[in-house]
Amino acid sequence: MTVTTGTLYIVSAPSGAGKTSLVKALLDSEPHIRVSVSHTTRAMRPGEADGVNYHFVDHEQFGAMIQRGEFLEHAQVFDNCYGTSQVWVEQTLAQGLDLILEIDWQGAQQVRKLMPQARSIFILPPTQEALRHRLTNRGQDSAEIIERRMRDAVSEMSHYVEYDYLVINDDFAHALEDLRSIFRANRLVQSSQQQRHAGLLSELLA
Ligand code: 5GP
Repeated sequence: MTVTTGTLYIVSAPSGAGKTSLVKALLDSEPHIRVSVSHTTRAMRPGEADGVNYHFVDHEQFGAMIQRGEFLEHAQVFDNCYGTSQVWVEQTLAQGLDLILEIDWQGAQQVRKLMPQARSIFILPPTQEALRHRLTNRGQDSAEIIERRMRDAVSEMSHYVEYDYLVINDDFAHALEDLRSIFRANRLVQSSQQQRHAGLLSELLA
C-alpha cells in the first residue's frame, strides 16, 4: 500500500492570539494531525510539563543540538531559544500524518526555504485591545513583560503577508471552523487523494 506523505503546516500568531487553544481543539477532532513539541531554553510555566508543551533544555544542550544539526529550524524569540527537531518532523510526515509546527515568523521563513510545499497559517486577534486583555488575563507575566510582549506582538503580526492563510480569532468556534477548513481542503488536493484512493480510482477507471 502506498502511504501518502502528510502535509507540513506552520502556524504562527502573536502571543495571546489563542493559537495554542485553537490547535489543541483542532487536534481533538482530527486524528490524523500531530503537533510538533519544540525544544526551548525558556523556564517551564505553571501547568506545563516537560515533553508535552516543550522539551525543556538548557543553553548547553540547545547549543549541542545546533552543532549536531538536529534542528529543522531554530530561532531566538523574546529572550529564549526555540527549535524544531528535524528527525521528528520527517518521521511524522512519512507516516502520512499532517504535522503542525507552532513556530514564530523567523522559524517559518527557514522552514519555507527548506520545505516550500509547507502551508502556513497566521492567526490574528480581532483587535489590539483583545490581545492586551488576553495577555493581561494570563496572569503569568509582569506588566513590564506584557508591554514588551505587546510590542513584540505588533512586530510578529507585521509578517502576516508571508503566510498562505489568515485566520482571525474573534469567535473561537468560527476560527476553529476556519482552521479545520484549511486542513480539510488540503487533504482533498487531487495528488494526495490519488495516492490515498489509488484502489478506488483504478476500479472506477477499469
Ligand atoms: P511561548 O514561550 O509563549 O510558548 O512561545 C513564544 C514564541 O515562540 C511563540 O511565538 C511560539 O510560536 C514560538 N515558538 C515555539 N516553539 C518554537 C520553535 O520550535 N521554533 C520557533 N522558531 N519558534 C517557536
